[in-house]
Parts: sequence; C-alpha cells; structure tokens
Amino acid sequence: MVVSLLGCVLIITAALAGGNSGRQQPKVTAVAEELSDAELVHRLRQFHGHTGPYAILGYRLGGWLLRRLGCGKYFGAQITVAGPDVTPYTCLLDGLQVTTGHTLGKGNLTLKAAAGRGEGTLFQIEAVAEEDGEVVRVNVPLTVAELFAEWMSQDQTEEQIFDRTLSWPPEELWQERG
Ligand SMILES: [Zn+2]
Repeated sequence: MVVSLLGCVLIITAALAGGNSGRQQPKVTAVAEELSDAELVHRLRQFHGHTGPYAILGYRLGGWLLRRLGCGKYFGAQITVAGPDVTPYTCLLDGLQVTTGHTLGKGNLTLKAAAGRGEGTLFQIEAVAEEDGEVVRVNVPLTVAELFAEWMSQDQTEEQIFDRTLSWPPEELWQERG
C-alpha cells in the first residue's frame, strides 16, 4: 500500500516536472490595429459595453500614439493620462486599453488627477517609449468635450455618434505638444 502510494506520488511529480520543462512563455499575438468598423464595434462592446465617443477617441488616439512612437502593443510604453476622473471622460481609458494593450492592471497606463492641466485642455496624455525613452505629449482640447456633448444632446443614435467620432479629423481631436 505504502509502495503504491509512493509510486503514485512519484508519477505525479514526474508528470509535473515534465510539464514544467516543456513550458514556454505564452505567445501573445498582437491584434491588428486596423479593425473594420464592425470588428471595432464588437471589440468595444465586448470590453466596454457600448461605443461611446470617448472610448472611440481613446481607441484612435492609442493607435496613433503607438505608431508615432513606433513601439509595440502591450508593453512598449508608459502612458499617463491627466484628465477628469469621471465618466463619460474616463471611457477614453478603455478605448486606449483596447488599441494599445497598455492597461491599468499592468500599470503601464495610469490616470493622474486632473490638476495641472492647461487651460482649454480636457486631457493631457504623455507616452514614453520603454526602449529608447522617446516621449510624445498630446493635448485633447476642451472643445472636444463641447463637441461630444453637442452630439449626445442631438438625440443621435449610438451608430451615428460612432461614425462621426471615427471619421472626425484627428487634428480636431488631439494635438501633439512640443
Ligand atoms: Zn463609455
């Protein structure tokens, strides 16, 4: 009895050891940044629950930031957002997480208190590339909050607001600061 129990333990131990030795780092496949509109709606709904304009803005801005820095998804940069810490504004963070893969949980996306933002500025966003320390700073002007509030007061459908936010000229949504 003792022998057979011991045999069992040895077999289990061997199996665990075998499993460990064969284990590899999980492979992360970056999701293509250019999603079709339907895929983007699906992705945002799945993660965020709806497709509000701030989430879409975050999605677009996040893709731009990674391309601008030439860094990879998930781990390429440290992104800091200074802005109002209340919805719907904070929906921007979820859009940013969808495209950049940088997340609150990993700590490479952080929200800072709104204090210190420049006048006329809704968000100040800073992204620092992990590899070479390159920094990109972006302002989202207060006029964006006015624009989105106007759309939302016009009884537009979620689909209409989605289309408008996705096609709105990027230079009116955010500007790079020196
Ligand atoms: Zn939202």
